[in-house]
Amino acid sequence: MTTDPAEAEDTGPKPLVHGVASALSPLVRRIVANNPGHMTGPGTNTYLVGIDEIAVIDPGPADDAHLDAVAGCGGDRIRWILCTHTHIDHFPGVAGLRERTGAEVLAFDARDGLEIDRSLKEGDKVEATEFVLRALHTPGHASNHLCFLLEQERMLFSGDHIMEGSTVVIRPPDGDMAAYLGQLERLKVLRPRLRSIAPGHGHLIEEPVAKIDEYLEHRAMRESQIAALLAEGETTVDEIVARLYPDLIEELVPMAAGSVWAHLRKLRDEGRATSADDAPAGRWSAA
Ligand SMILES: [Zn+2]
Repeated sequence: MTTDPAEAEDTGPKPLVHGVASALSPLVRRIVANNPGHMTGPGTNTYLVGIDEIAVIDPGPADDAHLDAVAGCGGDRIRWILCTHTHIDHFPGVAGLRERTGAEVLAFDARDGLEIDRSLKEGDKVEATEFVLRALHTPGHASNHLCFLLEQERMLFSGDHIMEGSTVVIRPPDGDMAAYLGQLERLKVLRPRLRSIAPGHGHLIEEPVAKIDEYLEHRAMRESQIAALLAEGETTVDEIVARLYPDLIEELVPMAAGSVWAHLRKLRDEGRATSADDAPAGRWSAA
């Protein structure tokens, strides 16, 4: 029991403070980049894994203050820079961090301006003296998306495959709903080996099982809503967005439209929807 109010309040997750390293486990520290927004929540999480040899996961934006904080925390022990995927809130800091540390850059592929030293595919490992990070190819949010499993702590670095605080945007053609759901189902198989999920945005997820189920249920609900609207007659992505997301702020409409289009493409591939032109502006009907 404590009577100190400062300690007494310290029961929930610690607030996400930009630029300050926060220890999440014996091997893992997190520094949140100062790029909060609708798509990034409190900002992009940069993780430092290891003590003597460090792998940095997702350097985030090319923000000198953030990269100085990461380099200051890891120093010359930073040996590897890993990227979960090549979206702009995750990788542009790679070049600056590489300059500061000389670390090797690893990602699924060189794309969108990211330069890499080595490509990581499904099952590839980054082996340090204290830990092993195993790459899982998890297309869906982005076709080149990787998650990383820290075997020693059963912690999954999920990038934007799973976030805390919101669902993930799936925007075709690089985003793929069927692939995304397949990769969520696959993580369920990992369940016994998962203790926590360290997402690209938001707090550490301490109940991975519940979170994965919540994600799957949410997508199943959206899919059945979209199938029900198709059953009413020919419709468009915009009409579906207006019906399903009536109070959405304007900036997020393109994201919702992407996800609806992604669901429609999945339904089409399953023979449940058809469209003459596979485009966001096209007309769709039940097959
Ligand atoms: Zn992101």
